[in-house]
Amino acid sequence: MRGLDIRIMLAHERVSAIIDGRTCDSAIDEYTLGSHLEAHRLGYADAQRGRTEPPAIFRDEPILLSGWNDGVDAFTDEREMSACDGCNDGTGNPCHIHG
Ligand SMILES: [Zn+2]
Repeated sequence: MRGLDIRIMLAHERVSAIIDGRTCDSAIDEYTLGSHLEAHRLGYADAQRGRTEPPAIFRDEPILLSGWNDGVDAFTDEREMSACDGCNDGTGNPCHIHG
């Protein structure tokens, strides 16, 4: 199942936080940053493949949804910049829109 490994990673991160006496909420913190980044990676890869929906298993997890959406946005921004004349004018600098 797509994203299951990342959802399990988040569950492990939350257990670690509880063991350390921390509270678990929907915030991205030092415990949940790893699963957030993996969700970002998956969102980027999904966008490359043309997938437009996050994994169903992410639906109740704002940390994973935001990571996945950030990954999609990163791919979209890179694709736009690669096709932008202003970003590819030979100076090596992004245009005023993407800079
Ligand atoms: Zn540009």
